Amino acid sequence: MELQARLSALRQKLPPQVTLVAVSKTKPAADILEAYQAGQRVFGENKTQEMAAKASELPPDIHWHMIGHLQRNKVKNIAAFVSLIHSVDRFELLAEINKQAKRNGRIIPCLLQMRIAREETKHGLSAQQIKDIIFSDDVKQMSHLRISGLMGMATFTDNKAQVAAEFSSLRALMNELSSMELPERCQMDICSMGMSGDWEIGVAHGSNMVRIGSALFGSR
Ligand SMILES: *Cc1c(COP(=O)(O)O)cnc(C)c1O
Repeated sequence: MELQARLSALRQKLPPQVTLVAVSKTKPAADILEAYQAGQRVFGENKTQEMAAKASELPPDIHWHMIGHLQRNKVKNIAAFVSLIHSVDRFELLAEINKQAKRNGRIIPCLLQMRIAREETKHGLSAQQIKDIIFSDDVKQMSHLRISGLMGMATFTDNKAQVAAEFSSLRALMNELSSMELPERCQMDICSMGMSGDWEIGVAHGSNMVRIGSALFGSR
């Protein structure tokens, strides 16, 4: 199947409230343009230089989402244009994002990445760390960022019950936070869960943003 056919087949399966982030990491700009021509506007990348290079040659109305582990000294490469950073996994990163957003006269929306997988390799914060960040006085002072929700990556496994339990734990924290009075510039609007292999489980457990790469663009 061609990319555009895969894209429309996937769109038909996704409920209307779910935003599709087409994960284009490692794929050439030509592939992104092909998806763009089929109406896709949101793309996910995991390396700042690659994202910046693609952004400079592709249409300006693309929304670029950073989904990969982000180093502090690389925030400046994307601060001028990034639409959403999914992968905030430590406090120091928020301070740097705020600083670079301010320098660019912007407010950058961020998601806090929760560690839901059992695998040691997955980055992310605990539920307690997420609460500590959201309610910290330091973060309240960071006027150039917005915390828009949470992101999580499940364990890479065929065990659907385990994936479901992991996604449920993230959704439960979002629901708990949503019932609380949150600081200004913090809303639990976006629940980013689900990739090519597990997006259906993610959506079934309350995801409203899926990050899909290989099922659209082919294997990497
Ligand atoms: C690569 C990546 C994806 C997409 O993975 P696929 O299995 O190709 O759909 C989603 N989220 C993150 C954080 C990624 O790094």
